[in-house]
Amino acid sequence: MLFPSLADELKDLEAAGLRRHRRVLESPQGARIVVDGREYLSFCSNDYLGLANHPALIAAAQSAAARYGVGVGASHLVNGHSVLHHELEVALAAFTGLPSALFFSTGYMANLGIVTALAGRDDEIFADKLNHASLNDAALLSRARFTRYPHLDLVVLEKRLAASRSKRKLVVTDAVFSMDGDIAPVPELLALCERHDALLVLDDAHGFGVLGDKGRGVLEHFGLLSRCLPPHSSPLTPHLIYMATLGKAAGVFGAFVAGPVELTDYLVQRARSYIYTTATPPLLSAALAASLKLIDEETWRRERLRELIASLRQSLKLQRWRLMDSTTPIQPVIIGSNQEALAVSEVLRERGIWVPAIRPPTVPKGEARLRISLSAAHTIEDVAHLAAALNELESAA
Ligand SMILES: *Cc1c(COP(=O)(O)O)cnc(C)c1O
Repeated sequence: MLFPSLADELKDLEAAGLRRHRRVLESPQGARIVVDGREYLSFCSNDYLGLANHPALIAAAQSAAARYGVGVGASHLVNGHSVLHHELEVALAAFTGLPSALFFSTGYMANLGIVTALAGRDDEIFADKLNHASLNDAALLSRARFTRYPHLDLVVLEKRLAASRSKRKLVVTDAVFSMDGDIAPVPELLALCERHDALLVLDDAHGFGVLGDKGRGVLEHFGLLSRCLPPHSSPLTPHLIYMATLGKAAGVFGAFVAGPVELTDYLVQRARSYIYTTATPPLLSAALAASLKLIDEETWRRERLRELIASLRQSLKLQRWRLMDSTTPIQPVIIGSNQEALAVSEVLRERGIWVPAIRPPTVPKGEARLRISLSAAHTIEDVAHLAAALNELESAA
């Protein structure tokens, strides 16, 4: 009997503190949110720049809807490729300084599309142990040999690369790790890939818009953008495939890959998650174009984030719990047990503060944590309020 066995599994999840429940959000995303009729100070979202409810993005979406409708009714390769999709891709290439960009519906689909198009049975994929689930799923779906290396361990990675006899080698990594907030050593990874003739797929979901003075993401952070920029007509980093998502700091929805024209053109031919799906509503592309402009112009949002990060790190005085070493808006506090992490999250919620507890399998066993994410929409007082509550709860526990 199918259903009793599912019910048993749900009971097991409950007993292990692993059963997940969705809460209903009744407001726009922001520093303050309304859930089930109550207002909370929220440290949950990936809306790092506070753009998800910005009037300029809303206006762009509204006027695009008035002009082009809501649904586009077909895939990109039939007749769903709107002028707004086209303009967004041009804007994304200009924004990132890479020769060309291809817009995908979501980051999950972009990763499936990129990896399965570029790697097959004769190839090998090397992946950081803490990569996002979408990169792992993509690797499994590709049927390539799948080799995971310990988090950020480039010595092991180099050994595996050197030992590989596979036709094409793909190193895939989060640029900013989504549950730890640390940053991959991109220059060293790139050098490794160049030495071993491997392609580097960088997933900058949490760096795009946030890292670098101009928000260009991890490549700007490491000063690598000039290597990709014109006047070099072909990029000096032919081993790099840059991918980022647009539902986080950009505040809207979607994702893109950027690189040489041959790459994006190849993906149009071969990326199944691009080909076999309806194109996204063009109004999202209009909102994204407005978002790129704000990311570019409003540098105060990144400055505010830096202040908030510094302030949180100074104010937290933890003994038993551990604030992870992170310079990004993702500031995880390791609690350890699933039950305690859940309990702390629950007490905070009773006090009107929303911080998600992240448990296995999203993070390794024994490393359940609070994942604090900061946004330019927060104030210094918001962060002080959170730090005071955490300091008090830890010493009371
Ligand atoms: C969120 C995320 C994705 C998935 O992007 P979506 O647009 O939400 O599907 C992919 N990779 C990383 C590292 C992410 O954090």
